[in-house]
Amino acid sequence: VIRQEEKTPVPCGIPYIFGTLGSPHLNLMPDPLLERHRVEVIVDAVRGIHRDERAVSTADGRRIRYRKLVLTTGSTPLVPDLPGVESEHVFPIHKDVARLERLQEALGRAREVVIIGGGFIGLEMADECRKLGGLGVTVVEMLPRCLIGALEGDLCAGAEQALAETGVRILTGRTARAIVPPDPGGNGHGGHVELDDGERLPADVVILGIGVRPNTELARNAGLVVDPVHGIEVDRHMTTSDPDILAAGDCVQKECLLTDRPLAARLASTAATEARIAGANLFEARRVNPGTVAVFSTRIAGYACGSAGMRESDAEQADLGHIVGAAETPDKHPGALPDAHPLRVKLVFGGPSPMIVGGHVAGGESTGELINVIASMIQARLTVDQVATFQMGTHPLLTSSPVVYPLVMAAEDALTAASVR
Ligand SMILES: Cc1cc2nc3c(=O)[nH]c(=O)nc-3n(C[C@H](O)[C@H](O)[C@H](O)COP(=O)(O)OP(=O)(O)OC[C@H]3O[C@@H](n4cnc5c(N)ncnc54)[C@H](O)[C@@H]3O)c2cc1C
Repeated sequence: VIRQEEKTPVPCGIPYIFGTLGSPHLNLMPDPLLERHRVEVIVDAVRGIHRDERAVSTADGRRIRYRKLVLTTGSTPLVPDLPGVESEHVFPIHKDVARLERLQEALGRAREVVIIGGGFIGLEMADECRKLGGLGVTVVEMLPRCLIGALEGDLCAGAEQALAETGVRILTGRTARAIVPPDPGGNGHGGHVELDDGERLPADVVILGIGVRPNTELARNAGLVVDPVHGIEVDRHMTTSDPDILAAGDCVQKECLLTDRPLAARLASTAATEARIAGANLFEARRVNPGTVAVFSTRIAGYACGSAGMRESDAEQADLGHIVGAAETPDKHPGALPDAHPLRVKLVFGGPSPMIVGGHVAGGESTGELINVIASMIQARLTVDQVATFQMGTHPLLTSSPVVYPLVMAAEDALTAASVR
């Protein structure tokens, strides 16, 4: 493994450095795991791929030969072309310990923080910043809802409301048009973000969470086929246009499992699955990537929500002749048990069978695993009847009741809605 950082943060844990963990050093990938499996880690940056001699060259002047090469160069945060964006008080979320330390120090001095971008990284950062206490936190999102790129609208509203109730200010349908740095003599205070309607939001720190772009430069320079927007092109075995070079993770293009269309979702879970496929296929094609189901979950100010596959609007656009079912049940039974939370599930079915194509969950702790169950149902292409009769395990302290199990109830609801229609 050649990587350019001495230590790498656990990417999904980055937001929790600020209000929960307290240090980037408590959020590091454990190298002993690699060492135990006799994986050699070289800390260096690869600068070029020399396909004719099957070697890579590095910043430190190494030339390392390969039989097979796997590119997992990841992604880089997008930085908008705004006046003032290069200022030191503006922080794109890089997966880099030194930059995260600088952000932590800046937040320690700040009175006001503005987060540009209300996707899951922006909202998780907002939630953690407000946990610091004494810090005014504002999120600016140009779309009509935060999280709308990934979740159904009502779940987005739930997350926004939960965060707003903690005191975070959320401005949707608004765009930042300039960033003005703090006064040089103002001890880091006095900057602002100017919005499209002229409103000025005080900002000692600005955090950017507007998305990422795949790191494809090495692949492009080596003459591999690269889509300028979606990333390195790979086949179903994760092989690039060079049979001796495979690629996986944020740097490669994604295709929807259901429609084969390109997908923008770049997730650690997808990256890990693709890496297992690429690893298995190094010397013979043993695993196939069926496409991404884009399963995702988060918890914002105690509101857990998750999504897999298509939203209702996606099914509508794809003209699947879809049906939808919903259910709400407590996540323990009886619901009077301590710590029981309402669990809301919406399932989308499409096609003549019809088959499950999407699922959306909001509730308590079980949300994360329930959305994974839905993702596996989508991957297994279960029909609405198979979901309604799927065999689950239940326990009063751990799950909803078998009599009103939410996935089953949502499937039955979809069947009822279809028969009424
Ligand atoms: C704040 C945050 C929160 C997130 N939360 C979630 C979450 O909850 N769930 C989820 O599924 N996803 C989440 N993600 C997305 C997830 O982190 C990415 O999808 C995942 O990290 C992709 O893994 P990767 O290995 O493909 O790329 P990366 O994690 O970007 O790793 C690429 C590595 O390659 C190195 N590299 C690149 N070029 C070179 C070179 N030329 N030489 C040497 N080394 C090089 C990079 O420095 C980096 O270490 C989050 C991302 C962020 C930033």
